[in-house]
Amino acid sequence: MELTGRFAPTPSGYLHLGNAFCALVAFLSVKSRGGRFLLRVEDLDRVRLPDMPERTAALLCDLAWLGITFDGGLDPSDYQSARGDVYAAAIEKLRSRGLVYPCWCSRAELHAATAPHLSDGRYAYSGTCYKRFLRGDPPDKKPPALRVHVPDETVGFDDLIAGHYEENLTLGGDFIVRRSDGVFAYQLAVAVDDALTGVTEVVRGRDLLSSTPAQIWLLRELGLPVPQYAHIPLLTAPDGRRLSKRDGDDSLASYRERGCRPEDVLGLLAAAAGQTDRAEPVSMAELLACFDITKIPKTDVAVGTLPPRI
Ligand code: GLU
Repeated sequence: MELTGRFAPTPSGYLHLGNAFCALVAFLSVKSRGGRFLLRVEDLDRVRLPDMPERTAALLCDLAWLGITFDGGLDPSDYQSARGDVYAAAIEKLRSRGLVYPCWCSRAELHAATAPHLSDGRYAYSGTCYKRFLRGDPPDKKPPALRVHVPDETVGFDDLIAGHYEENLTLGGDFIVRRSDGVFAYQLAVAVDDALTGVTEVVRGRDLLSSTPAQIWLLRELGLPVPQYAHIPLLTAPDGRRLSKRDGDDSLASYRERGCRPEDVLGLLAAAAGQTDRAEPVSMAELLACFDITKIPKTDVAVGTLPPRI
């Protein structure tokens, strides 16, 4: 299989340094080895994602300014909102294996009945509707969400940056693959899309490390190939706050408006990625020539801001 990476943003806001960091590392990792780089727009929840065409166009423009481009450009089928048939077919396959069941639990019921939240904010579903399903109880009138029943199985993988990671699937519990309003769930869509678009390497933020065992399990159940994963550290402000939460001025557009050049921003990101010693201007060609994934730090990285250029 051809070495293929991807950037899969949810265009809920304008591209900030944290997104650019992820896109840059994913791009460098495959492009420094002659691979392909694809874009996928994760817009499953169209209702909560207004102004999609504008935001996607702005995102492409910001990335191109930095020197990050995509093989094949942006095709209509690169939008997850256009791929409902693909996700429905995957759910059908899981259903034929007896893994899918309808869940009518409301948000309030879920919160009342679920096991304590995990440290990363997840909670395991208590299985109320799975028990109904096993008993063959008649369906409720309201439309259900669809969940998959996970086995008591530990799934592990070797992450290129985080090292070996494993988790028992029952920790996260049975998860939703289609919401009651018909919106397909992230876990299903991301796993299916990576496999079906030929992605062999997934570089993304460390906040998604704990989602990976469930995605690997889904891929195996669907008979699809599992990519290599590399979970990169998150960028923080010098005070430790998640960068994405810092007020406004981390958007790439605002750096541009303040007169920064692409090589200034690349310098900041390359130093955060452990590729250079200091946040000094660097070109994409230089980074491609020296990229080394083993130098990427394993813990969150604080980045400063660039002074405006006169
Ligand atoms: N769409 C997700 C995000 O923007 C990333 C999903 C992934 O890389 O697997 O956070």
